[in-house]
Amino acid sequence: MTFQIKILGNNSAIPAHGRNQTSQLLQLDKQYVLIDCGEATQNQLSRQNIKIGKIKTVLISHLHGDHYFGLIGLLSTMHLFHRNNKLTIFAPPELERIIYLQLEASETKLSFKLDFIPLTHRGKKEIHRETQFTIQAFPLEHGIRCYGFLINENPKQWRINKENLPEEMRIQEILTLKNGKHVLDENGEVKYALEKYALSPRPSRSYAYCSDTRYYEGVIPFIKNADILYHEATFGDEMEDRAILTNHSTASQAASIAKKAKVGKLFLGHYSTRYKDLTSLLEEARGIFKETYLSTEGETIYLKE
Ligand SMILES: [Zn+2]
Repeated sequence: MTFQIKILGNNSAIPAHGRNQTSQLLQLDKQYVLIDCGEATQNQLSRQNIKIGKIKTVLISHLHGDHYFGLIGLLSTMHLFHRNNKLTIFAPPELERIIYLQLEASETKLSFKLDFIPLTHRGKKEIHRETQFTIQAFPLEHGIRCYGFLINENPKQWRINKENLPEEMRIQEILTLKNGKHVLDENGEVKYALEKYALSPRPSRSYAYCSDTRYYEGVIPFIKNADILYHEATFGDEMEDRAILTNHSTASQAASIAKKAKVGKLFLGHYSTRYKDLTSLLEEARGIFKETYLSTEGETIYLKE
């Protein structure tokens, strides 16, 4: 399965230094999941030649404008393109009223069905399941209701060792092995041992998204061992007081979370406009967690098998 993340926006609050407000596009197999939708999102999608009709699911973390002000524009464009397949939006509950008020005021009846799923739960919860992946949402600490997301590839099948396969093995028996079970004969005895004819499944990949949040260790069990973590790093250490005051994190704090959660790689983002050059944020974080990278707009992050 294709599993990749395109960074569409990584600045906080306002557009600056050629950076736009938060948005990411996940490609999972043949479909797209949009995470947050800052105001430049549809321009960014168009610049990247992304077919917006393939976006099936939208996840909105919270209702600060820099995370969703692009949504009404995107919905409007989908409507003008005569979209007819359903779009599912997971978001804090107030978003539904906000969007419908705008649609009503312009007397727009969308060409497609909008399915709003309000996020109000505590703890980690599976909110969406597809054949190949699941999406879980968990609360962050950001002053207002705010969720992080964990996208997990579903467990894969065992891999058949074709060279080793007896000719008489039936398709049903191969499927049994693929599902991780021994093939038994009519007496319940092992006919084909799983480990002899199949290789264990490749590990399932996972991506965690934590933006926006103050330093919050409560998130660690939710994102443990994720292959890639995107964590906000609005400020550098010198602005720690400001980070506390505004419910944001510093680069070092993001790195501490990555280290404690034992993730594979950390990508920083949601940069404050005060940082034109982001090197200091990267260096601070790398001092704590070596596998740290700056997210860059237009970049694609690949989760390799
Ligand atoms: Zn925010």
